[in-house]
Amino acid sequence: MSSSLEGHVALVTGAGSGIGRATARALAAAGASVAVAGRRVDRLEELRDELEAEGGTVLVLELDVTDEQAVAAAVRSTTERLGRLDILVNNAGLMLLGPVENADTTDWTRMMDTNVMGLMYVTHAALPELIRNQGTIVQISSIAARVVGRGSAVYNATKFAVNGFSEGLRQEVTERGVRVVVIEPGTVETELREHITHAPSKAAITERVAKIRQLQSEDIADAVLYAVTAPPHATVNEIFIRPTDQA
Ligand code: NDP
Repeated sequence: MSSSLEGHVALVTGAGSGIGRATARALAAAGASVAVAGRRVDRLEELRDELEAEGGTVLVLELDVTDEQAVAAAVRSTTERLGRLDILVNNAGLMLLGPVENADTTDWTRMMDTNVMGLMYVTHAALPELIRNQGTIVQISSIAARVVGRGSAVYNATKFAVNGFSEGLRQEVTERGVRVVVIEPGTVETELREHITHAPSKAAITERVAKIRQLQSEDIADAVLYAVTAPPHATVNEIFIRPTDQA
């Protein structure tokens, strides 16, 4: 087990499944204490038990990132219970694909509130502590922040927002030693697609991904680990990572 993050504390949102879960595992394996946040506490407790059995230190935080007060309380709990905060991984997100025409706009609200407002609330709440510790903020964006596809307009809009916000933030804090990292995965095999409410879009993406070797959550966790363990003078600004089979 590498000990390169020994003494560091990380907060990972959406840690109950997929990329967040794999990232929490990787950070704990590298020696960080990890606060794992999300709405499904049973998933988080299971992860805590697994990581603590391996010697890790894990704090479970029941959190809906769209609730600004709850976000502030979660960041406070992290610093009070784990002593500090050095690494924030803004991973919680939704991908509710579908055309704009005749869309159920509650899908739009959920995505904007989670992928954009939630990510910004967590960043805002954690920033003073991250500035104090010259910490690292990792935003799990998407290739959807760069590559626009038909039937994905609002998801694209949320991830473009993540990248724009993150670049503005980077310019604001980089000279104070805070690193802002944007990770842009292509298709990763997770639960993300299961929540799509527009049936034809769900069927189309399911058929599309069945033909390729998808990325695994661990591939993205490796990218996060690479960025957060870079020497303090080096910021990995952006990692764009696609399945080899995804044209
Ligand atoms: P998952 O669905 O497995 O993970 C998403 C996580 O976000 C869940 O654990 C969920 O936990 C959490 N979440 C959702 N809404 C909220 C909320 N309001 N408050 C707190 N947590 C929330 O999918 P992925 O691991 O794939 O997704 C993680 C990130 O990766 C997302 O931002 C996604 O956009 C991005 N991404 C994924 C890609 C892919 O192909 N899978 C490609 C590119 C980017 P809970 O329901 O318990 O709250």
